[in-house]
Amino acid sequence: MTRKVLPSVPEVQPAYEVCIIGGGLHGLSLAYHLAKSGRRSVAVFERSYIGAGASGRNLSLIRSSWQQDAWVRLVWYARSLWNTISLELDYNVMFTQRGSFLCIGREETLPTVHAAIAMQNEIGVPTRFVHAAELGARVPQLNTAGIVGAIHDPTAGVSRHDALVWGYANGASRLGVHIHPETTVVGMELTGDRITALKTSRGRVEAEIVVNCAGSGSKEVGTMAGVELPTRPLTLEMFVTEPFAAYLDPIVSIIEDQAYIFQTSRGEFVGGAEPVGHLNQALASTSPALRQSAAALVRLFPRLAGVNMLRAWGGVIDMTPDGAGIVGAVEERPGFFLDCGWGGEGYMVSLATGPLNAAYINSGTLHALLAPFEYKRFERGEPFSDSFLVVDAAGETRA
Ligand SMILES: Cc1cc2nc3c(=O)[nH]c(=O)nc-3n(C[C@H](O)[C@H](O)[C@H](O)COP(=O)(O)OP(=O)(O)OC[C@H]3O[C@@H](n4cnc5c(N)ncnc54)[C@H](O)[C@@H]3O)c2cc1C
Repeated sequence: MTRKVLPSVPEVQPAYEVCIIGGGLHGLSLAYHLAKSGRRSVAVFERSYIGAGASGRNLSLIRSSWQQDAWVRLVWYARSLWNTISLELDYNVMFTQRGSFLCIGREETLPTVHAAIAMQNEIGVPTRFVHAAELGARVPQLNTAGIVGAIHDPTAGVSRHDALVWGYANGASRLGVHIHPETTVVGMELTGDRITALKTSRGRVEAEIVVNCAGSGSKEVGTMAGVELPTRPLTLEMFVTEPFAAYLDPIVSIIEDQAYIFQTSRGEFVGGAEPVGHLNQALASTSPALRQSAAALVRLFPRLAGVNMLRAWGGVIDMTPDGAGIVGAVEERPGFFLDCGWGGEGYMVSLATGPLNAAYINSGTLHALLAPFEYKRFERGEPFSDSFLVVDAAGETRA
């Protein structure tokens, strides 16, 4: 039987209780959980097809080996949900637990690495430091020259990003959420300090609650609401090779080379290495990024020399000054909520932000796991600092 991603595509209604701007994973996960909590008037507006943003263009890595306590707690909570998400959505998102090795090239980084592992273990993440010799034995294909060791996260994994998008969209739609693809939010009407209606490419829609899940369009959406957000778009680039026999089981990345790679269950190698300060902001790939990726990954895995790349692409992420997402109710715009700015890590946390933000919208209490990501942290002078992020605060990229 054919299974439709969206069981129905309803007409745009003149009013909804909750209007979510952005049909990526954050918007869809939130919509699903709002409907699951009993909300009956929820709509998602997506200017293109669902998953057209970063949610449908990422590497789909899920790992908990972060430096910052708040990141580890949020990702670890999300990781617990990855075990059952296919059952929850009745949609196979093809999660596979590969384990990951986050390699470190510099001795000077080791004190930070050991402190991070101690913190991760305290939270419950079973990460462990492996020295270069053990790493070489565990991943014999890897050239460990210039690597002092790695953080092994046995719980890390990958899944199929399109399937997760379709699963959430299908689940939300079945619960009555109106998902409107090809519907751009172009402006907002304000009465006093509240947003009372959205202007969309399919007409005016009254709204009680508006949520900015617009990914790389978040700044623009903020501007429509008269709220200046500290977000900016940044491109990451990926490639996929021709398929081969099983060669590499874990995910391997290296901080200093900003490179990451894994082999899919179909045999293709998928990965990338981000040129420093890369500000391409387009969906096409570029030769410098491809050359850098190829050089870094062949250095790590010499046997990949000569392997043909089949496809390469770019995807635009939404970056905050500290590389961490922003959530919260905007004080000066009652009823306007944020769930954006998730940078290069928004895929893995989208399972957690949906239920936690839905609970926040319903109860008015921000969960302790999301509280550190509250958007006012910049005004309070409390930005994050996590040197294990793919893209760091300056917009430089790391693995
Ligand atoms: C190449 C690449 C690799 C990545 N790898 C990983 C990884 O391995 N692990 C990980 O956790 N994360 C990864 N990420 C990051 C992750 O993909 C994002 O953080 C996440 O998908 C963000 O989801 P989102 O829903 O917030 O945004 P998006 O998926 O970008 O969705 C936002 C949506 O809003 C829509 N929109 C914008 N403005 C409007 C408007 N005015 N009206 C209507 N719709 C609008 C857009 O069209 C878009 O579809 C990667 C990203 C890229 C690009």
